[in-house]
Amino acid sequence: MRIDFANLYKAHQQYANEIEKAIKKTIEKSQFIMGEEVQALENELADFTNAKYAITCSSGTSALLLAMLSSEIKPDDEIITTPFSFIAAAEMIALLGAKPVFIDIDPLTFTIDPSLISSVITPRTKAIIPVSLFGHPSDMDKINAIAQKHHLIVIEDGAQSFGSIYKNKKSCNLSPIATTSFFPAKPLGCYGDGGAVFCDDEHIADKIKSLRIHGQTKRYEHSRIGIGARLDGIQAAILRVKLKHYPSQINARIQVAKLYNKYLKNPEVILPSIAKETQSVYAQYSILCKNRHSLEHKLKQNNIPYAIHYPLPLHLQDCFAYLGYKKNDFPIAEEVSEKILSLPMNPYLTENEIKYIAGVINSL
Ligand SMILES: *Cc1c(COP(=O)(O)O)cnc(C)c1O
Repeated sequence: MRIDFANLYKAHQQYANEIEKAIKKTIEKSQFIMGEEVQALENELADFTNAKYAITCSSGTSALLLAMLSSEIKPDDEIITTPFSFIAAAEMIALLGAKPVFIDIDPLTFTIDPSLISSVITPRTKAIIPVSLFGHPSDMDKINAIAQKHHLIVIEDGAQSFGSIYKNKKSCNLSPIATTSFFPAKPLGCYGDGGAVFCDDEHIADKIKSLRIHGQTKRYEHSRIGIGARLDGIQAAILRVKLKHYPSQINARIQVAKLYNKYLKNPEVILPSIAKETQSVYAQYSILCKNRHSLEHKLKQNNIPYAIHYPLPLHLQDCFAYLGYKKNDFPIAEEVSEKILSLPMNPYLTENEIKYIAGVINSL
């Protein structure tokens, strides 16, 4: 049996006709950067999330940067975020000269524990950037309530959670500003780099649109310092096809997770937990295993691909040594990073493949 971790090629094959037609049409119109496809995609992304504005951009990382620039995050501002994630949010905070302030995570959802926010708020705190990890939304109601009380900005990093649901609302429409990524391996991926920022405020939306084209308001007139962070027309054309089919892809991912839940029966292994009134899009299906080393060995022996998201928490990364954090500062994030392991997850895994993977893990 040859099992594929993300199976991106199968996803292409499924919609190849439509996607190749869309690419060809974009090339024939020579709308390589921005253009009609980008505008149409932005309307469809706004419809999908129910956010008023969706502004596409060149990646999930640039989406975070644009969101932070539009919120006037400045050097020495303190931004509360998670130490257990991909680096992009903490990295963009630091790139702007602001200070990432980490708090520990919830042991079940791996997203920031809202009850820890208040203890790190100072007069310099400007924003909270929760990451909705592995497809599971952060506890946004609690986060928003604290933010409102202290007049803080909230930017949900929804790079992994686009399409997930929290209390009947979609991720990326749970806070005043949110971002996502269309990196190929994300649940909704394009064929290169891409991302988007979401918001309800027209003024912020206009600012983000200008920031993504070098702070331009009119052609060659620059009212602010921005960056070049536009989306390609071809990526937009591909995303429009994939967005149309995305609900069925989400359902297929949920079915795969259900089958894992059904067949995995090793008491040493903790399965993903989903909070109440929440639907994950399972960007990853990540389990906790006390003896990860032997699990890795066993998976390798049986040709089962896996990934470790993430082996080293951010507060212990060399690039953040200057922040002065040390081991044991965030015990849950540290413990999870030692036990976590992501199993193959994609809409095309068959019941037999899942049974086989579970069998190998159950016999550990
Ligand atoms: C992938 C990812 C990003 C960055 O997205 P890119 O499109 O790769 O720049 C940001 N945050 C999280 C949580 C991610 O998983």
